[in-house]
Amino acid sequence: MLGNVALTMLTLLLLLGGVAVGWLVAARALDLSRRSARHWSLSCAVGAAALALMLMRGSAPDWLALLAANTLAAGALLLMRRGVLHFLRQPLRDKEALAVLAATIVAQLGCSLLPPALAGPLRVFVACTAMAWVLMRCATQSYPALKREFGDRQAFLLVAPQVAGVALFTLRGFIGLLPGTPPLQALPADTPLNVASSLLILVLALLLHGHLAVMVLLRLVRKLRHLSQRDALTGLYNRAEWNRQLEAQHRWLGRFGEPFGVLMIDIDHFKKINDTLGHAAGDAVLLTAAQVLMASARDVDVVGRLGGEEFGVLLPRTEQMAVRRAAERLRQLLCDAETTWRGKQIKLTVSIGAALCTDADESPQHVLERADHALYQAKNTGRNRTVVARLAS
Ligand code: GH3
Ligand code: MG
Ligand code: MG
Repeated sequence: MLGNVALTMLTLLLLLGGVAVGWLVAARALDLSRRSARHWSLSCAVGAAALALMLMRGSAPDWLALLAANTLAAGALLLMRRGVLHFLRQPLRDKEALAVLAATIVAQLGCSLLPPALAGPLRVFVACTAMAWVLMRCATQSYPALKREFGDRQAFLLVAPQVAGVALFTLRGFIGLLPGTPPLQALPADTPLNVASSLLILVLALLLHGHLAVMVLLRLVRKLRHLSQRDALTGLYNRAEWNRQLEAQHRWLGRFGEPFGVLMIDIDHFKKINDTLGHAAGDAVLLTAAQVLMASARDVDVVGRLGGEEFGVLLPRTEQMAVRRAAERLRQLLCDAETTWRGKQIKLTVSIGAALCTDADESPQHVLERADHALYQAKNTGRNRTVVARLAS
């Protein structure tokens, strides 16, 4: 009959095996950071090997089996950390990892020279300290990058299991050293301390790998959101997202009465560039225009590619004269910009239709129609100019 601890460890062993396979499959299916997923898979395999060694004690001298098991357990966490750092594009810190492993081995060998009553708890202390150290370094090294990518709250939640692991291993390491603690019995033995430790390690493994999966999912969701909102060539908002922002501005206007500007910018005679220099040259010109618009727009402005060679800019909190000034400034900057294409300098001019959206524009479509009409006028009166629509009445 298996005892409670052995049963828990066997469950953990099966779980780690399943998660190891899961990471390999996920790496292929999600096409996200395969290298990280391989690290996490290997981490599970190494962790499972450590557990198996503890379960199959007796076939090698105890000190050797424990030395190997503890070193493998620390190695499993180091591999997990390496995967996390790789995922977040942080320095991998391999020298530090090797130093931790070497220190763990040397300290445990040192323990073997002591009397058994002292050697056991000290060996546990060394292993627990190594694992707490690795988890603490993983949390502190990944937190700033997690914060940058996912924000404060998510970053905190993502490192929480690692911090819990630090607390758990520190506590477990010290408990064995406290006077009055019953003499240490190897892990499969059903002592209350072993039952609690094995259960907590099971929960911790679930939490650690759960948090890795959440981290991968969060990045996937952000990537999908980005893809659905952005234009593939220029990286600007696409038409659908720009329209959503226009609707939001219109709602804001309805609530707070703040007028906003709408610019529709169309490159003049763009077809000629495509026809004379080729489609790729046209794409390069579109990129230049997008970069100029992004670089010169205010933080609050919303720049989008509405299609082909047409761009839209929303100017929140503005008034009629400022709309004209902003449009003329952008037109001039675009006119000054040059695209270098296979040694040739390509210049462009744009026509801009501008309109200020006020309470009198009952829908976002209304102000768009006015800006579009102004653009049409700019084209028909000679191009390379701005026409500002009259206020809606
Ligand atoms: P106008 O001054 O009246 O605006 O003339 P235009 O030539 O700029 O406008 P027109 O609508 O006649 O042509 C726009 C061209 O833009 C036609 C289309 O092939 C090209 N175009 C649309 N999307 C892309 C793209 O992603 N890349 C490139 N290179 N060309 C594109
Ligand atoms: Mg055009
Ligand atoms: Mg056009």
